[in-house]
Amino acid sequence: MNMNDNTRIDTQAIQAIDGAHYLHPFTDNQALGKKGARVMVKGEGIYVWDSEGHKILDGMSGLWCVNVGYGRKELADAAYKQLLEMPYYNSFFQTTNIPAAQLAKLLTEVTPPQFNHVFFSGSGSEGNDTVVRMVRRYWDLLEQPQRKVIISRHNAYHGSTMCGASLGGMSGMHAQGDLPIPNITHIEQPYWYENGRDMDPDAFGIKAAGWLEAKILEVGPEKVAAFIGEPVQGAGGVIIPPKTYWPEIQRICDKYGILLVSDEVICGFGRLGEWWGCEKFGYKPDLMTFAKGVTSGYVPLGGVMVGDRVANVLLEKGGEFNHGYTYSGHPVACAVAIENIDIIRREHLVEKVREETGPYLKEKFEALADHPLVGIAETCGLVAGLVLVKDKKTLEAFDSALEVGMVCRGHMFGNGMIMRAVGDRMIIAPPLVITRAQIDEMVALIRLCLDKTYEDLK
Ligand code: PLP
Repeated sequence: MNMNDNTRIDTQAIQAIDGAHYLHPFTDNQALGKKGARVMVKGEGIYVWDSEGHKILDGMSGLWCVNVGYGRKELADAAYKQLLEMPYYNSFFQTTNIPAAQLAKLLTEVTPPQFNHVFFSGSGSEGNDTVVRMVRRYWDLLEQPQRKVIISRHNAYHGSTMCGASLGGMSGMHAQGDLPIPNITHIEQPYWYENGRDMDPDAFGIKAAGWLEAKILEVGPEKVAAFIGEPVQGAGGVIIPPKTYWPEIQRICDKYGILLVSDEVICGFGRLGEWWGCEKFGYKPDLMTFAKGVTSGYVPLGGVMVGDRVANVLLEKGGEFNHGYTYSGHPVACAVAIENIDIIRREHLVEKVREETGPYLKEKFEALADHPLVGIAETCGLVAGLVLVKDKKTLEAFDSALEVGMVCRGHMFGNGMIMRAVGDRMIIAPPLVITRAQIDEMVALIRLCLDKTYEDLK
């Protein structure tokens, strides 16, 4: 690959039109317009290149999605072939297309046994909107229309549509646009480091799950429709729950008969070393949202796996479900997803994360806890997070106004590494194809940037 070609790109010209016309998501566009966005032009394996020729190790897999790595010709070929054959047809009005039907079957093969049906969307946010529609429809059909309340968690991320942002627990999102919408409520997240350090983690896991039961009793069990959670909270800062948490959540949902929804948009397709986060943590959801890793982000696709408990009611009692998207079951997206799942299977990526790269990352990343800036460093499969602290002994946090996480993130970018900052929690989710040698390279870059951040603070 000849990266020199990129030197011919007129970065400033792209930045000028971008700044003048493109409103970026989750961005202060006025500030960006003045500074100019970094222009990404090429990807190969776990690396991306910007228009100035800088090679950057993408520790975030784009936005937690490029699981099989950049530059996979097989995926481009699958899209090209389908684009020529049948680029689009909808699944409304009693029609289907070949890749959508084949992908539906394939998904039931790689998901837990209760899943025999799928509803396709174009993204994770849309998938979670479908969840809300489906949960309500389910309880209406069972003649319990009063069951409307969905319980989620603070600091959860479930997308950016009205339903997605409401299910999510991001205060910054709720503050813009009168969210959450009615009948969505939140409990505290199972963040041991912040909320339970004085306790044994397993005891804290039980305590944190107990907040769900307390909320159910507060709302009234007869009004609660469902609980939704990410196996590991991703955008909230890679919050890894104690192993006791999810089985206890399952027990509470079962006790009150409420639906359990697993948002697997990040954790699905092998990221935690199992196909699904619910398998890693040992619970059995009724509905499961997916997106991102289903196509490794090459084309947009999402959806909801519908467990037999819900599917049987919808099918037997429901008649027509008045819900769907133009791009539900998009043939090109589905063709790419089929090839992507085939890559995951033939390259044994799930097993590789479970047996090789996950444990190796754990060993190397958790060793960063010896750094004077680091309070805790933890991993789960191929996600990881570390907390920057002012005082390593007392774990005292920095003044948030210092934005130490952003300083560290700046050093990362400047030194060829993408690591995300959530406050002072630094997180990664590298592509599942990363090798041991590349993990060494990545952890060395992180240590270098921790040193630079430490120097800045002296
Ligand atoms: N759910 C989770 C857990 C996510 O992390 C995301 C996106 O990051 C979404 C839902 C929303 O997905 P999308 O951005 O495809 O709408």
